[in-house]
Amino acid sequence: MDTLRKNLEKINIPRPSSGVIRLDEPMALHTTFRVGGPADVWVRPQGDCFPGYAAELFGFARSEGIPVFILGGGANLVVADRGIRGIVLDSGGWTGWEVLTEPEAAGETSARAAFPAVRIRSGTALDAFADGMANQGWAGPEFLAGMPGAVGGAVWMNARCREQSISDLLIETEIIDMDGPSFAPFWVPHTEGDFAYKRSPFQDRKALITAARFSLKKGEPGELRRAANALRRDREAKGHFRAPSAGSAFKNNRSFGKPAGKLIDELGLRGFSIGGASVAPWHGNFIINTGRATAGDIRSLTETIIEKVHAVLGLTLEPEILFVGDWETG
Ligand SMILES: Cc1cc2nc3c(=O)[nH]c(=O)nc-3n(C[C@H](O)[C@H](O)[C@H](O)COP(=O)(O)OP(=O)(O)OC[C@H]3O[C@@H](n4cnc5c(N)ncnc54)[C@H](O)[C@@H]3O)c2cc1C
Repeated sequence: MDTLRKNLEKINIPRPSSGVIRLDEPMALHTTFRVGGPADVWVRPQGDCFPGYAAELFGFARSEGIPVFILGGGANLVVADRGIRGIVLDSGGWTGWEVLTEPEAAGETSARAAFPAVRIRSGTALDAFADGMANQGWAGPEFLAGMPGAVGGAVWMNARCREQSISDLLIETEIIDMDGPSFAPFWVPHTEGDFAYKRSPFQDRKALITAARFSLKKGEPGELRRAANALRRDREAKGHFRAPSAGSAFKNNRSFGKPAGKLIDELGLRGFSIGGASVAPWHGNFIINTGRATAGDIRSLTETIIEKVHAVLGLTLEPEILFVGDWETG
């Protein structure tokens, strides 16, 4: 891997016409957990150059055999202390949306053909999306208010809140297949059964999500803003932003009869710590960075909680947070 690093410095990595590219960029700066070592290369193309640049980058990376990791808002990630080998393509500069009230092209169809709808770039922050739609009197996305992360990451994760998943609104997703053969973006219609609890078909496909189309309903801006603000206040009251985290650490499993956080609470694990990582004293399903956590601490704590719950209850919790990057070497 050190060889890959040295080579990366020598070879001519394409640069975006607008945006930032850096070597050895600390991923702790780009994740809500505030942990993670350096990415060999981190690039955030800005604005309209994004899809064209991504296509060029994927072609380059394929020919050089360099891995590419796609970063959304970094709100569900534990990046290894050794960082990420290869290139991190940050989608955060690819933002904005258009509301569509009628088909743009004759014959435009989808299994969920729906107008009005919004076509939105994948790097748009979820909270900005919820806010923007509420302000314009479009109902649907307000349940995403206050949720950290971006649209692409939320579709990839099939993010959910209050019994609603983002896939409930999804009409189609625009993607680029990262292995080619063509790096042109194309639309994938939503298909019933492709999405499930915290599952999307993109988890099994090496693809960049460039945009998504969601159905909307007419709403009253004041009411929608009130609903969005109530959700934000509820998250604050539940301590979501009191310390760096990636939200719920474990998936809920209906067959366990109780939410993961409740099982962890009942074992007296609130406040249980390893190094600088701790189970939040106020929320059994939140692992927090108390200020000096390493990614290794978070991983050890996650594994220890799984072992303890299994030892006492015979149930195997499944992490919802994603461990990514260079965990294997060193
Ligand atoms: C305080 C807090 C509260 C939270 N509450 C909730 C909640 O209520 N419900 C919930 O579901 N989640 C919650 N989360 C987790 C997080 O907000 C969601 O999982 C969010 O959808 C992650 O989006 P992201 O853009 O940050 O993705 P990232 O964390 O950046 O990436 C997640 C995965 O998606 C992939 N990915 C990201 N963007 C793209 C793209 N454009 N194309 C292809 N792949 C991509 C990444 O490679 C990675 O595998 C919470 C997190 C925090 C910190």
